Amino acid sequence: MRQLVAGNWKMNGLCASLGELAALRDAPARVAAACDVVVCPPATLLAQAAGCVKGAFALGGQDCHAAPGGAFTGDISAPMLKDAGASFVILGHSERRQHHGESDGDVAAKTLAAWGAGLTAIICIGESQAQRDGGAAAQVCKSQLVASVPDGATSTNTVIAYEPVWAIGTGRTPTTAEIAAMHAHIRACLVEKFGAGGKEMLILYGGSVNPGNAAQILKLPDVGGALVGGASLKCDDFLKIIGAVHA
Ligand code: PEP
Repeated sequence: MRQLVAGNWKMNGLCASLGELAALRDAPARVAAACDVVVCPPATLLAQAAGCVKGAFALGGQDCHAAPGGAFTGDISAPMLKDAGASFVILGHSERRQHHGESDGDVAAKTLAAWGAGLTAIICIGESQAQRDGGAAAQVCKSQLVASVPDGATSTNTVIAYEPVWAIGTGRTPTTAEIAAMHAHIRACLVEKFGAGGKEMLILYGGSVNPGNAAQILKLPDVGGALVGGASLKCDDFLKIIGAVHA
């Protein structure tokens, strides 16, 4: 399976940041990459980003509403993301779950909306520090997975991102053994729920991936790529992570 390296710019990026995308578009290391690449800039930049990237790599949104349109001031629908040039959308990121109270049910509804618009959903799951300390990480991830990923998920319309909440933006990561164990567990849950199709779905690791640790994480079994926050903002760092994918 070809791996996927996804960049999540979060609430960062102005028009001036499009230069990073142009650099990524033209970088020989990206052109020669052994993985697929998607960058998820803020929605305000999507249409300009699409004009800049010209299909050299994919673009994604960071959230969408469950409805295709209507009286939802400030929200953005999946068809709007598609129209602006996105082919992916991150859903259920822990920052959305934490700061916007998104439930697994909300994530599942948004996923259906994303699929309806022809977007691939990158569905995030992951345990908090307290849940890991309490020995509940595997159970938490399983229940998030079961309730956030609707029936009908396939390797084409869905990517799973395992992002331990305590590793996001902290510079801390699980050990490689812990990442491998959780990815094997998530794979088993996917196969239990989706049968053979569950074997094909990409499972990204996210949480403080950087140029220094990417290679050892990306070579682990059942790690289908990375979801990268801070280190995706600068083309040079992101390129080093992309380059860490083994052919
Ligand atoms: C993220 O935003 O999904 C993320 C993993 O962030 P960071 O790489 O900065 O930890």
